[in-house]
Amino acid sequence: MSGDQAPSIVWLRDDLRLADNPALTAAVDRGAPVVIVYLLDEVSNGVRPLGAALKWWLHGSLTSLGADIDALGGRLVLRRGGAETEIPKLVEETGAGAVYWNRRYGRARDIDAALKSSLRDRGLTVESFRANLLFEPWTVTTQDGNPFRVFTPFWKACLEQGVAREPLDAPSALSSAPATSDDLESWALLPTAPDWAGGLREHCAPGESNAHDRLERFADDVLEDYHRRDEPGIETTSGLSPHLRFGEISPLQIWHRLRGSLSREAQANGAKFLSEVGWREFNWNILYNFPELHERNYRSAFDAFPWADTPQWAIDAWRQGKTGVPLVDAGMRELWQTGTMHNRVRMVTASFLIKNLLVDWRVGEQWFWDTLVDADEASNPGNWQWVAGSGADAAPYFRVFNPVLQAQKFDKQGSYINRWVPELETGEYPPEPIVDLAKSRKDALAAYDTMKATA
Ligand code: FAD
Repeated sequence: MSGDQAPSIVWLRDDLRLADNPALTAAVDRGAPVVIVYLLDEVSNGVRPLGAALKWWLHGSLTSLGADIDALGGRLVLRRGGAETEIPKLVEETGAGAVYWNRRYGRARDIDAALKSSLRDRGLTVESFRANLLFEPWTVTTQDGNPFRVFTPFWKACLEQGVAREPLDAPSALSSAPATSDDLESWALLPTAPDWAGGLREHCAPGESNAHDRLERFADDVLEDYHRRDEPGIETTSGLSPHLRFGEISPLQIWHRLRGSLSREAQANGAKFLSEVGWREFNWNILYNFPELHERNYRSAFDAFPWADTPQWAIDAWRQGKTGVPLVDAGMRELWQTGTMHNRVRMVTASFLIKNLLVDWRVGEQWFWDTLVDADEASNPGNWQWVAGSGADAAPYFRVFNPVLQAQKFDKQGSYINRWVPELETGEYPPEPIVDLAKSRKDALAAYDTMKATA
C-alpha cells in the first residue's frame, strides 16, 4: 500500500480509551485503515516493569478496550517487546504511512523521541499529542523559566493558563488494517498459582465505561461529601485513580464533567477535588524534570539519612498488616485485599514505615508499586517522598503521624479499623505494637538531626 491508503498506526500506552484520545482521532481523521496496537514492553530501559496488581488491572483494561474496539468494527493488536524494534516491525508488516501516539513524560520519553525521528527519517508521518495531563510540564514554569517546587503557586499558574479544548468524542466506527496479534491470555498477566486476586475482582472494575460510571456516580452522589475526604470509613472520594493511571478516562473529561450539572453542595467541593487532580499534575511535572524520582531523593540532603538496620520480620509485619497498630494494619490489609488504600491511611502507613521503623522510603514505595492498582510512576514516588520529607513541597520530616491520634480523629466510630482488623473486637489482637511509638518517634527525630548535621 502507498499514499493516503497506507494504514495509520495508533500506539496506545497509558491511554486505554476511545473517547478523548487525540492520537486515535488523528488516525481516524487521516482516513486510512488503522492499526491500534498495545505493546507490553518489559525490556526497554526507562519503562518501569509493572507490579503484580497493575498487571491484573491491565488485563481487565485491555479486555474491555478490545471489546469496545471490536464493537466499532476494529481490532486491538497486542504485541510484546520494546518499541524501538516492535513499532518499525509493525510499520514494515502493515505498510503504514503514519504513526500516532499520546505523550508520556517519564524516562520513556527518550524512547519516543528517538523513534519519532527515525520514523520521520524514513518518510512517515509521526505525531504525538497531549492527552493524559491537563498541562504539559514544560508550559508550567516559574517566571524565570524554572520548574515549580511548591504546589500552590504551581496550581495557580495552571489555573491561570486555563484548559483550552473540549474532550474529543470516540470514533463512531473503525476500519482496521490486518496485523497479527498476541493472545492476551498468553501474556499471563493474571495470577494463577496462587490466585490472590479474589479481592481485586470484588473491588475493582477496569475499563473505560466503568471509569465513566464512576465519574458520574461521584459527581451525582459523592462529591457533595468530599469535604470529609479524610475519613476512610465512608465513601467520599472518587476512586478514579486506577482509571486515570491507565488512561481509561482523561483528566480533561473529569475537568469538564465538574463544569457540568452538579448540586450546590457538590459545586462547593469541586475546586478542592480538582486541586487533588492538580497534585497528580504536579507529580508528573516533578517527574518530567527529575525522572529518577523513584530511585533518588529529590532533596539530596536526604542522601545522608541514617536509615536503621530494621530487621526483615518488622518490614514483613508492616507489609502483612501485623504491626499491632490498628490503623496501620487496617490500611496494609486493605491494600493487600483490594489493591487500593485510602489516601489518609497511605500517609499514616508510609509515615510508620519511614519514621517509626526508620526504613528507607524506597522499600515502601516498591511495595506499593507492586500491590496498588493505581501505582503510578509519578504519584507513587512523589507521595512517598512527600511523606519522607525528601520530596518537592514535602511534609516536614519532623511531622511524624501518630497513628493512634489519626484514628481517633478520622475514624471516630472505628468503622474502618473494625472492618479490616476484626480481631480487635474478639480480643485476639496483639496488646502491644511491634515498636514503641513514642520512643521510635524520638529516634526518628534524632536521625533527622544527624542527617542535618552531616548534610
Ligand atoms: P480522589 O480524592 O477522588 O482524588 C481524585 C484524583 O486526584 C485521584 O484519582 C488522583 O489521580 C489525584 N490525587 C488525589 N490525591 C493525590 C495525591 N496526593 N497525589 C497525586 N494525585 C492525587 N496516587 C496515585 O494515583 N498513584 C499512586 O501510586 C499513589 N501512591 C501514593 C502513595 C502514598 C504513600 C500516598 C500518601 C499517596 C499516594 N497516592 C497515589 C495519592 C492518593 O492517595 C491517591 O491518588 C488517592 O487515594 C486515590 O483515590 P481517589 O481516586 O478516590 O482520590
